[in-house]
Amino acid sequence: MCGILGIYGKNEVAEELINGLTALQHRGQDAAGVVTFDGRFRMKKGLGQVSSVFRSKNLARLHGNCGIGHVRYATIGSTDVLDAQPHAVNYPFGLAMVHNGNVVNFMQLRKSLYEENHRLLETSNDVALILYSFASELEKKNLKKLTVNDIFDTVEAVQKRVLGAYSAISIIANRGFLAFTDPYGIRPIVMGVKRTRKGKQYAFASETTCFDYLGYELERNLEPGEIVFIDTKGKVHSEIRHRKERAFCIFEYIYFAREDSVILDRLVASERVRMAKPLAERIRKAKLDPDIIIDVPTSSYFFASGIAEDLKIPYRRGLAKNHHVGRSFITPNQKKRELMVRQKLNPIRDVIKGKKIAVVDDSIVRGTTSARLVSLLKANGAKKVYFISAAPPIKHPCIYGIDMSIEQELIASHSNLKQIRKAIDADALIYQSLDDLKELYKDVHCCYACFSGEYPTGVTEEMMKEIAQEKMKSNRV
Ligand code: SF4
Repeated sequence: MCGILGIYGKNEVAEELINGLTALQHRGQDAAGVVTFDGRFRMKKGLGQVSSVFRSKNLARLHGNCGIGHVRYATIGSTDVLDAQPHAVNYPFGLAMVHNGNVVNFMQLRKSLYEENHRLLETSNDVALILYSFASELEKKNLKKLTVNDIFDTVEAVQKRVLGAYSAISIIANRGFLAFTDPYGIRPIVMGVKRTRKGKQYAFASETTCFDYLGYELERNLEPGEIVFIDTKGKVHSEIRHRKERAFCIFEYIYFAREDSVILDRLVASERVRMAKPLAERIRKAKLDPDIIIDVPTSSYFFASGIAEDLKIPYRRGLAKNHHVGRSFITPNQKKRELMVRQKLNPIRDVIKGKKIAVVDDSIVRGTTSARLVSLLKANGAKKVYFISAAPPIKHPCIYGIDMSIEQELIASHSNLKQIRKAIDADALIYQSLDDLKELYKDVHCCYACFSGEYPTGVTEEMMKEIAQEKMKSNRV
């Protein structure tokens, strides 16, 4: 999972890009980068959060009226700065690109890019695969008379060649600005517009939250497979060439997206309250009698308060959060993650003591964080702890850019409900049901592959093995 932002307009964009990336920081904290274009590419990228990568001297150098930026969460590839985005190539024209998602057929692509297109990839980041595939297809066109149709043809060829989840934004030097998605629209990408004194300025981003800060109005979501190209005169061209049925990642609503973002015309916070209803029903049916409902801050707040409202049981903040430590789920490797949970969350003793607590988390991935939470609550005087997971049991790896790509890591892949309850030492365990979730989103067409094992893009055994191997190499397990 990563965050992307691109701006194309009439004014200097670097400051907006950097400010906007801070609003997408929850999507990745491994690295951040920006490239602007003012006749040449001006790039700055580094490891860590946006605030530690960019200094005012960088801002003075990042000139240009168009630029793209990225916050990285490494799912495949290392956490080296070489793998940080954006990436750029100088031929044809000069191309720079950022993307969010994961390429599934990376081994075949790497091979075909080398053997057929004679391009050697210098990084293991899969934006390079998309960028080099794009460059290889584009160079087949008549570059002296490049048309908008040529650009659409090129993206269509990329969409057919690259299997996986990707939302991408690209600068084509002196030709225009481009945004596109994979044929299934797995990762979100929104388009915004701002009217400035000099004219219209366009932005594309993973989430709308950064538009609010930057003063852009949400124009729309890109459709699955959609290609938007803005030419040098500022004219917007759009086409859908290679579209499949939408398979939007349901986890964006459950966990990844920020609660104030609007994705596919739905406010994420309201979606979490909606998902709380069937959870409350399951708690009722299980005849659990919590004294209070607490959340694991902060992505579970709307689930917990929604359940509390439905059950007419008080919601309390039972865990204090240190906001200056990153999100535990998106921190490399298990040891660091566990240490971070303790640094990040501290029980509020008087709220917990002597009570039957229903603690709501967005999901249970490995189970180790949940077990630590239960033990923390019990050590601070909780009489009973009921664990509520807003996501159904995660039984299968995500191959589309979320850090759970090895099956053995997932507690629900090899344990049943009773075993998981025992492993995390909870007095009761309630999961969201996949059927309830599908019922809630029957009009959206979502990806549920990590619960069901049905991968919308299709995937071979061999690809699954390659993804797992790549993951092992990345030192995140
Ligand atoms: S497998 Fe799960 S996390 Fe991955 S894209 Fe699908 S729904 Fe999202």
